[in-house]
Amino acid sequence: MYSFVLCSCLALFATTEAAGPLAQIASGPAACASLTSSLGANKVISSQLNPNYIETTYNYWNSKQSQYTPSCIVYPVSSQDVSISLKAIKAAGSRFAIKAGGHNPNTFYSSVEDGVLISLEKMTTRSYDSKTTLATYQPGGTFGDIYEYFLQYHRTVVGARLAGVGTGLALGGGLSFLSGQYGMAVDSFRELEVVLPSGDIVTASATKNPDLFFACKGGGGNAYGVVTKYTVQSRPAGTFYAGNLIYALQQNNDVLEAIGNFTSYNTDPKASIIGTYEKLLTPETDFNLDSAIVMFLVYDGPDPGKAFDNFTKLNPLINTMGQKNYLEVVNMPIPLSTQITRGYNIFRVAVHGDPASDQGFIAHYNAWDAWCEANKGDYVLSSVDFQPIAKSLTDASKTQGGNAMNMPSGPWIWLNFLINTPPTQSNGTYNAVQESFRDMVNSVQNKAGLPLFLNDANYDQNPLKTFSTYRKLQTLKKRYDPDGFFAKHTGGWNFNA
Ligand SMILES: Cc1cc2nc3c(=O)[nH]c(=O)nc-3n(C[C@H](O)[C@H](O)[C@H](O)COP(=O)(O)OP(=O)(O)OC[C@H]3O[C@@H](n4cnc5c(N)ncnc54)[C@H](O)[C@@H]3O)c2cc1C
Repeated sequence: MYSFVLCSCLALFATTEAAGPLAQIASGPAACASLTSSLGANKVISSQLNPNYIETTYNYWNSKQSQYTPSCIVYPVSSQDVSISLKAIKAAGSRFAIKAGGHNPNTFYSSVEDGVLISLEKMTTRSYDSKTTLATYQPGGTFGDIYEYFLQYHRTVVGARLAGVGTGLALGGGLSFLSGQYGMAVDSFRELEVVLPSGDIVTASATKNPDLFFACKGGGGNAYGVVTKYTVQSRPAGTFYAGNLIYALQQNNDVLEAIGNFTSYNTDPKASIIGTYEKLLTPETDFNLDSAIVMFLVYDGPDPGKAFDNFTKLNPLINTMGQKNYLEVVNMPIPLSTQITRGYNIFRVAVHGDPASDQGFIAHYNAWDAWCEANKGDYVLSSVDFQPIAKSLTDASKTQGGNAMNMPSGPWIWLNFLINTPPTQSNGTYNAVQESFRDMVNSVQNKAGLPLFLNDANYDQNPLKTFSTYRKLQTLKKRYDPDGFFAKHTGGWNFNA
């Protein structure tokens, strides 16, 4: 997920994926005509040659999504505009998609063919109340933009670990470098403004529409309505001690052991890590130039004490640790890393228990390593990330009311696999490689009873089904989307399985 290697593969030879049942509804132009008359031509763009249209459809992290051509793109500036849009789309029976930052790699999650694309990018109002320390942000812009805004108050919000990711992250849980202290991004939600599939604009909080609030706290974006404003508990943003350690792959076992030990034994909630193992398309050599291990180590404070000693003592090839502000932290290892890594990207996830008693994360690493060696040439880049879930994280979640994942007590560990494939690959080869990669991930069993991470999951992994709250979420989905308007007219997680 967080690979920094240059792999900006322009979709010059884009292949066409099966569009599925959504392709059969083609009332996009009718919806667009109605929207142009109600919202005005400056908020609705139908020309594929318009620079805004080009930029919005280009701006997907999985560049495969850029090959789809919406009938028009709507740029709402208010919740009323979103409400008008949903009502017009429903009346026309059109397909649609809701797009915030465009980082979800799954087809039709935030892209659409022959339908209306609702791009939230112009909704960028933010505010901070120094009396309550509550912050508000609308869904437009990246988390980097949002962090930059709140830094003027020496505050931040719990959000993405890379600056370029969009606010859809929050609706899928949202794992942050601050999560060890404050829980997932959703745990800091205090109130949401939501435009329901009916077009009604409602408030969701612990006291107003609490069921809707619960569902939006990690039960997936694009499911219960469109969130048009987030009110969250802000957090202090001072000096961090952070950086990357880069190791040669010969040190893979030592670093894996250090990741396992950190996951099991770190008790300092201010210390956070991501471990990323990377493989490039280049052939294997005696020097292992096709591989690297990149650790992201972040401490919320100027001095990490001994929190990262297990990693620094392994003598990395490169060490960029030092004091940084939060914007510098989320721009590691280099600014614009999410833009640079745009390409034919697909994620898959896994979950394992406390490494002290569950070696599943090592079995999964071995499966991935063997697959990468056996399939050289089929990918440009592949990586596996190790993302520890600390007990302090799950405790912080519980003390703030819990979330839709109902996270069992840590420690445990999320894994995220990435495959970036060459854009020149034929459809047949692309599909075969994806299936083979899927089978590799499925070859090691996940730890039963732990939720898969929805934000990084592939659509066919059905992460919601791994939540102990799934039945409740299914009921809420029916309540807030009673006639299946979202379920039938836009992509997203399947609640029927
Ligand atoms: C490079 C990279 C780094 C990442 N880092 C992290 C990380 O640190 N932590 C983490 O938790 N995840 C991370 N992710 C995963 C990320 O959270 C998901 O990809 C998320 O879906 C991205 O949100 P977005 O707004 O950019 O994408 P989009 O594709 O625009 O939105 C994602 C989904 O949410 C829906 N949605 C978006 N906004 C709304 C809204 N306001 N109301 C209703 N539905 C909405 C969309 O329709 C879509 O289905 C990362 C992903 C990438 C590619």
